[in-house]
Amino acid sequence: MKTNNISEYLDYLFPNPKCELIYNNDYELLIAIVLSAQSTDKRVNTVTPIIFSKYNTLSKLKEAPLEDLEKIIRPVGSFRKKASYIKNIATIIDNEYNGVVPRDREILTTFPGVGRKTANVFLSEYYNEPAIAVDTHVERVSKRLKLASKKDDVLKIEKKLMKYYPKEEWAKRHLQMVLFGRYHCKAIKPNCSECKLIDICIEKKKNI
Ligand code: SF4
Repeated sequence: MKTNNISEYLDYLFPNPKCELIYNNDYELLIAIVLSAQSTDKRVNTVTPIIFSKYNTLSKLKEAPLEDLEKIIRPVGSFRKKASYIKNIATIIDNEYNGVVPRDREILTTFPGVGRKTANVFLSEYYNEPAIAVDTHVERVSKRLKLASKKDDVLKIEKKLMKYYPKEEWAKRHLQMVLFGRYHCKAIKPNCSECKLIDICIEKKKNI
């Protein structure tokens, strides 16, 4: 099977895509996404159960000693910065939003450590809102498959993907592209010999 239809192939590979971060509620998801920056979901999943069982409410989390949070999240990298994000995010949600993560991108992006990508991942995963978050995988795959051009920044790529896919598919396509980038179209040694999109890809020749 070879196809020029990206959506068809993504549906074939990942018919029911799921976020791979482990979480039990809205703030755990938001913090897990913040921790996943420049790291991997796998690594984040090794530390979040420790944090959220030790500090199992927002009020406990906001009072957690910074040094302890730093120690727990060390494996995910940038641990000093991220530990302070956790405390500050917990404080803001508990003090200003009655313990509920606001369902609003503008507000979310004022939180420490939360940019547009993080807010989009949160809103699409937790509330199933139409949003496409462009992370490193989505950016790479979009460029290789000519959904975006090489010089496009993440915002431009997001806008192009929003035009390319129907709105009701945005959340699903984002997840599928992340998984495709993570497991097939990897940054180094992508699995081109088995990829059915090879005819429309600009990277193929380099990797076979
Ligand atoms: Fe990625 Fe290779 Fe497929 Fe191109 S042919 S989309 S580089 S896996």
